[in-house]
Amino acid sequence: MKYCARCGSEYEDSVQDCADCPGNPLLVSAEEMRSRGLPLPHELDQRVFVRAATAEDPFTAEAFVEVLQEANIPVLVRAGRSGVVDKLTTGNILPWWEILVPEDKAPLAIPLLEQERVQELATTDEAVQAAEEEERENEQPPAPPPAL
Ligand SMILES: [Zn+2]
Repeated sequence: MKYCARCGSEYEDSVQDCADCPGNPLLVSAEEMRSRGLPLPHELDQRVFVRAATAEDPFTAEAFVEVLQEANIPVLVRAGRSGVVDKLTTGNILPWWEILVPEDKAPLAIPLLEQERVQELATTDEAVQAAEEEERENEQPPAPPPAL
């Protein structure tokens, strides 16, 4: 059996990457999962993972995972799928990803992810500003033709 280090899904040995996770990460062996401190699916119930954050797009989910991995916090990403009830009642089928960490690491993980979210927003603002600046530059009258 092989496993996805992101979401913890179990796959047949013939499968190479996870179909559920953003970026389709390569699957790893059970030993690799253990060495990263990640639980195997049948061990999950012995270890309580709690939601540290949700991401509205795969890029944010990816960024959150990187932050946590850098801090050596085991992380699982669960692709949130709106259930049938959700679809019927709210029509809300926006994708989102749940960032799960071990319960005892949550006090550490949550501020890290909040910080990352703030940084991402700042980066987005900067990108918008840069784009506006570029627009302004383009609005400037063309340079006079060189004298002949
Ligand atoms: Zn996965």
